[in-house]
Amino acid sequence: MCCGFRLRHPGVVKLDKISEVLEDRRMMIVDQRTRHTLHRLSSLASTVRRTAWARTPNADELKRQAIAARDRVLADLPGHLARLEAAARKHGVAVHRADSAQDANRLIVQTMRELSVTDALRNHHPLLHEIQLDRAAKANAIQLTPLHPGDHLAQLANEQPGHPIWPMGQLSVESVSATLQKKWRIPETYDPDHLASTVRMPLRRALLRAYTAIMGVDFASVEEGVFAFLDNDGHNASLTGLARHVILLLSIEQIAANLEDLDALIQVFSLNAWGRPLPAYVTQLQSPAPMDVDGPRTIHLILVDNRRSKIIEEGFGAALRCIQCGACHTVCPVYQQIGGGGYAHSPYTGPIGAAINPILLHPELGEPQAYLCANSGHCQAACPVDVPIPDLLHAHRRRLAQSHPQGDDKRYFTLWRRFLPHPRLFVPFIRRNRKK
Ligand code: SF4
Repeated sequence: MCCGFRLRHPGVVKLDKISEVLEDRRMMIVDQRTRHTLHRLSSLASTVRRTAWARTPNADELKRQAIAARDRVLADLPGHLARLEAAARKHGVAVHRADSAQDANRLIVQTMRELSVTDALRNHHPLLHEIQLDRAAKANAIQLTPLHPGDHLAQLANEQPGHPIWPMGQLSVESVSATLQKKWRIPETYDPDHLASTVRMPLRRALLRAYTAIMGVDFASVEEGVFAFLDNDGHNASLTGLARHVILLLSIEQIAANLEDLDALIQVFSLNAWGRPLPAYVTQLQSPAPMDVDGPRTIHLILVDNRRSKIIEEGFGAALRCIQCGACHTVCPVYQQIGGGGYAHSPYTGPIGAAINPILLHPELGEPQAYLCANSGHCQAACPVDVPIPDLLHAHRRRLAQSHPQGDDKRYFTLWRRFLPHPRLFVPFIRRNRKK
């Protein structure tokens, strides 16, 4: 077992206490079936990705363009955001800024009240999980329906999405079937197509009633004020076509300087995430639609910072080059052991999650994640925009070692030095704590 668990209170050596800390942080090795599913998913995704890149004639040039596109934006983020805001306003989009998740939720609720609506559909996007939109909607009596089958399944199974591209990729066919049998009393079946259409059916019905949509934006082009959504089942196109009011949420760093850069980012995202040159659907939105055509009559844009400025301030800005393709997850030996549940409910899982969560989340939850690394270096090799994840994780650990008393670390290593030669002392403890 290679994951780097680190206990913040190693002086307390009681196994019960350790168990409690592990339980609290959900940093447990997942059960054998889930590990098997994660392993299959990872190896399939990696093979498909490698094959797709090998078939791309201008692969190196494309990666260089994508890296340059990310560098251009991050070199002057405030300037690009100001220009995006101006371009969006010019096209009739109402623009808001949210410093925190609470601000973003407050703006969403306020906008919905102004529109006099109490229900909405949402797309699949990690930013919506980051701000805990589902919880905020419930607290404000807003009925929010996720339109992505994976998100819908996550709600039914009461699980957190574990991967940016396959939110429920860690669930086996058997557990999906068991969840649907329990929740919807469907007859026993293990046919993936049948299960998928069972989950999709109520979502299609909900789509026909779409009036308001809350959507995370994948990328925006600053110069033209264009917002892009990528997917393979068309749910973003359906939402933007049918909903009359759209509330867009955009992480401040997910922008491209112009359509040319946007094009490069879309291509590398698609190759790395799905192993195809382009997604089946690229939906673009620029301005509210006139009365006689399909499309939203009003568009609100919320630019969400939520500690990203702090990530830059603290010297970890390179993490914001990430385009959330999810490739580093599928090559990470630690992720394959602990799945998405090991990242303290953050939607940012895998190696990139470990690199941003120490600042994005509360320190108690985020800081231990800097140790979820086996130093394999596979993550950086798989990254199409060259995020230096191993360096970022080392920098976090150095920072934490400086900010926490050394005595703790010494006691921690002494403890493990004593335990490691005697697996019989800790293997039963680990087994006991594995999820059944
Ligand atoms: S760090 Fe790189 S590989 Fe990992 S999700 Fe982000 S862009 Fe993809």
